[in-house]
Amino acid sequence: MTTLRRTRIVATLGPATDADNMLERILREGVDVVRLNLSHGTAADHEKRAEAVRVVAQKIGCEVGVLADLQGPKIRVERFANGAVILQPGQPFTLDCRKNAPPGDDSRVGVSYLGLINDVQSGDVLLLDDGLIALQVKEVAREQVHCIVLIGGRLSDRKGLNRQGGGLSLGALSDKDRADIKLAAQLRADFLAVSFVRSAADIEEARALLREAGGAAAIVAKIERAEAIDALEEIVDAADAVMVARGDLGVEIGDAELPGLQKKIIREALIRNRAVITATQMLQSMVEAPIPTRAEVLDVANAVIDGTDAVMLSQETAAGKHPDKAVAAMRRVCLGAERQFEPTEDMSPAAHRIDRSDQAIAMSAMFLAARVGVRAIIALTESGSTAQWLSRFRSKVPIYALSRSAAARRRMLLLRDVTPVAFDPSDGDPAHVARAAVQLLFSQNVLSVGDLVLLTHGDHTGRGGGTNTLKLLHVGEDGIAESLRDL
Ligand code: PGA
Ligand code: MN
Repeated sequence: MTTLRRTRIVATLGPATDADNMLERILREGVDVVRLNLSHGTAADHEKRAEAVRVVAQKIGCEVGVLADLQGPKIRVERFANGAVILQPGQPFTLDCRKNAPPGDDSRVGVSYLGLINDVQSGDVLLLDDGLIALQVKEVAREQVHCIVLIGGRLSDRKGLNRQGGGLSLGALSDKDRADIKLAAQLRADFLAVSFVRSAADIEEARALLREAGGAAAIVAKIERAEAIDALEEIVDAADAVMVARGDLGVEIGDAELPGLQKKIIREALIRNRAVITATQMLQSMVEAPIPTRAEVLDVANAVIDGTDAVMLSQETAAGKHPDKAVAAMRRVCLGAERQFEPTEDMSPAAHRIDRSDQAIAMSAMFLAARVGVRAIIALTESGSTAQWLSRFRSKVPIYALSRSAAARRRMLLLRDVTPVAFDPSDGDPAHVARAAVQLLFSQNVLSVGDLVLLTHGDHTGRGGGTNTLKLLHVGEDGIAESLRDL
C-alpha cells in the first residue's frame, strides 16, 4: 500500500494545464483541489476548465474540489502606450487618477483606483509589481499623485500597486467580483476565495451574494492585507477556511514579518476549527526549472510542520514549464515532512471551550487515539463537520470520513489527515452501519484483521452535525467489527 499523504495540494489551472493532457497528469500526481484564478481569463475559459476537471476526475476515479478565486479590488496601473517603460531611480513619476487618463509613458501612468488620491500622502511608499518597483509620494495634487522612483526597473501594463503598511481603503468586492460570484455559483465551485478581505463583514457579504446566486461553496478568506491581520480572529471565525496569501501580504507588511504571520494564521485557523492553505511562490523556481531549490523544499516542509492543511501552487502549474513535476515535488516533500514531523501537544485546540456534541466526540476520539494504538478513526459524517474537528489535531492517526454527500466529500479535500470515502448507509441501525463501514475499509485494504479502530457517528445517520457516539472496535475475520474487553 502506498503511504497516505496527509497534506492537501491545491494547484492553479491556466494555459500550462490546458495543453498536452497536463490536467490529467497533475490530477494523477495528487492534486486535491484545483484553483480557478478569476483574475485572468474569461468566464468561458473557467467553465471549460471546471468541466474538464470533472471529466478527468471521473475518468481516473478520484474526487477533486474546485476553488474559484476572486480577483478582489487589487489596485493596478493602467496600460502604457508601448506596453512597458523603464523607470530610473531618482526620476519623477506620476500616477494619474483621472478617469480616462491617457496611455502611460515614462513620466506618468493611469491608475484603476480613482480614490487613491484620498488614501495617500507625501512620504508614503507605493510598491508596484509585488514590490519590484518602489515609489515615494512627493505631492498629491488635483487627481494626480506625484512620486519619485526609489527602486527602478521595468514596469509593464496592469501591474499591481500596494502601499507599504497597507491601509488603502478600497472595499473588498469590486463589480467584477460580484459578477464572478455568480460565475462561481454557475461553475458549482466547492470553495470561493475572497481576496483582500478586511473584516468579517466582507466575508459575510460574499457569502450572502453567493447563496443568493444559488452557490453552496465554502468561503476561503485570503489574508493578504495589513487590516486583515488586525481583525484576524473575527475573519477566521466568519470564514470556512483561510489562505496565507504570502504574495500581497509580504508586500503590504514586509517580507520579514511573513514567517511569524504564517505560523500565527495557521495556529489561529486550527484553534478556531478552520482549514488553512499556505500559498504563493512555494516552488517558484519550478516555473522554469524541473526541480525545486533546496530553499523551496524547506519552505514547503516548514509549512507542513507549521500545521497547514494545504499547500498551493500558483504560476508553477498555471503558467510554468513543468506543472506535473511541480505537483510531484509537492507530494514528495509533504510526505517527507509528515514522516519526520512529531506533533506537539500545544498544537491541539484541546484547551478550547467545547460547545458542540460533535466537537466533544472528536476531542474524546483524539484523546483515545493518542493513548490506545488505533489504526484509524472512522467518522460517519453527513456534512463533514466531525471530520473537520478531528483533523484540527495534528495527530498521526488517519481519519476516514465516510459520507454519502459528494459535495461534503469534496469540501473535506482541504482537510489534512482526512480521506473522504463514499458510503451510503442503506440501513439506519447504528450497529449495522458501523459494521458496514468497517467492512468497506477492510475491503479497500485500509484495515486488516486485528486492527483497532475508533468510529464516530450519530444516532440518526444521515443528519448533519448529529455525532454523539464514539466506539472502539476490533477488526475480526472477514472484516467483521467486534467489540473487545481487553486492549
Ligand atoms: P493572488 O493571491 O495570487 O490572487 O494574488 C495570493 C497572494 O497574494 O499570495
Ligand atoms: Mn493576492
